[in-house]
Amino acid sequence: MNTTRMQRKKIPLHWQILIGMALGVLFGFLMSGFSFGKLFIINWIAPFGTIFIRLLKLIAIPLIFVSLVKGIADLQDISKFKNIGLRTIILYISTTVIAISIGLIYVNTLKPGVGIPEETIQQLTSAYAHDDAIASNISEAGKQTSQGPLSFLVDIVPDNIFAAMSNNSLMLQMIFFSILFGISILLIPTKQAKPTERLISSLNTIVLKIVDIIMKIAPFAVFALLSQIIVSTNDVEILQKLLFYGLTVLLGLFTMILFYLLIVYLFTKKSPIWFLRGIIPAQLLGFSTSSSAATLPVTMECVHKNLKIDNEISSFVLPIGATINMDGTSLYQAVAAVFIAQALHIPLDFTAQLTIVLTALLASIGSAAVPGAGMVMLVIVLESIGIPAEKLAIGLALIFAIDRPLDMCRTVVNLTGDSMVSVLVAKSMGKLKK
Ligand code: ASP
Repeated sequence: MNTTRMQRKKIPLHWQILIGMALGVLFGFLMSGFSFGKLFIINWIAPFGTIFIRLLKLIAIPLIFVSLVKGIADLQDISKFKNIGLRTIILYISTTVIAISIGLIYVNTLKPGVGIPEETIQQLTSAYAHDDAIASNISEAGKQTSQGPLSFLVDIVPDNIFAAMSNNSLMLQMIFFSILFGISILLIPTKQAKPTERLISSLNTIVLKIVDIIMKIAPFAVFALLSQIIVSTNDVEILQKLLFYGLTVLLGLFTMILFYLLIVYLFTKKSPIWFLRGIIPAQLLGFSTSSSAATLPVTMECVHKNLKIDNEISSFVLPIGATINMDGTSLYQAVAAVFIAQALHIPLDFTAQLTIVLTALLASIGSAAVPGAGMVMLVIVLESIGIPAEKLAIGLALIFAIDRPLDMCRTVVNLTGDSMVSVLVAKSMGKLKK
């Protein structure tokens, strides 16, 4: 009994999660062989995955608040905060533009959409164009575009803090309030600030403990999540038809990961393995949940504990990154937009490609960090390059079947990009531990 317990302790978390994932995939395939298999997994296994995601989301808002306030208060000096803020935003915008450009280069040279047989387009269109999910993606995107150009700024400012706290999609509003609160702590006399600082610091330790507790069920949760994904996967035959497009996106995402590793190495002289080993639990969870918002508590823990990045930096860079920095999503949007245009024989000139860079940048900032959000904002990119309204549903139908697996992979890139920027900002502030 004792030895078993000791052995279990020795298995690092990422191995436990990987084993859970592998068993989940196996179990999913096994159950697909039985007529009752899918229903069994949906009714009896999947809820445990949902519980895990709910727990992570539950802790996200308190975590953002206490760690951001603590991070800013620990800075002691408001000018440092401005420095961190500026560097973070510049790095986020630059990496996203690089990601979109990589996507555009691949999709324009590999041309996965050229020569797709008319019959395949018809088949995908009739299978998915009238799907409720596609209609709701288009109408969601419509709501976003019908607002004025500065509405995103208005949306960041909450008018009721409880309303902001009660809705995870309003995470930026929570970040805004936390920053305001943290800055105000810096601006009042130390004596008056101390009691709140102490309280926040203690709350921070408690919230991190809760994350630890939640992570104990991670290996079981990923089992549930992956077995559910396997039994809900589309026809393998349809997936094969989209293989070339899928591979183009994957190649782009893989290039992004290599790019991050290179940057980490060049700018910090630290080994890429050190970086990957530190954040692998977050990457695995991002892959299993397809949500960088749900994974945020784990990403924060990995970056802080494993990469030893100060809380003052990680607590600011990561929540903002989870909401506005999505390199994987923007790369995918660039590839998908051009792929759809190629398949539907709509020529795209240089201006259209530049428009993609700009709109995919804005779209990835506006995408929520939840499963499938990238596809909603893709509608805006498609509209901006002149895909006619009546072809939007057909365009989305072309890529719909393979969206979930790609979503899993782009989420990994999204959170890896955020973590890389934390490392760079820490290094540039002289805060990267040896
Ligand atoms: N699922 C992605 C994320 O949470 C967003 C997307 O690309 O759909 O980061």
